[in-house]
Amino acid sequence: MADDGKIRVGAKIEPLRKTRACAECGRSSVREHYPFCSDRCRSLDLSRWLNGSYAIPVADDETKASNEE
Ligand SMILES: [Zn+2]
Repeated sequence: MADDGKIRVGAKIEPLRKTRACAECGRSSVREHYPFCSDRCRSLDLSRWLNGSYAIPVADDETKASNEE
């Protein structure tokens, strides 16, 4: 992800449909990971269903701020 940052951020934020809060952390979702805000939250939700449990500890290690707005 070299020159893939700023230009696309403005483009992908355009709401084609209603944005909704991320089912995991409550932040605004993005189309790329809809209905979640990030791949992390999507994976967390998926793993919860796969494990049949809602007791997954969440490590808040989102260091890839460049991928956010
Ligand atoms: Zn989230």
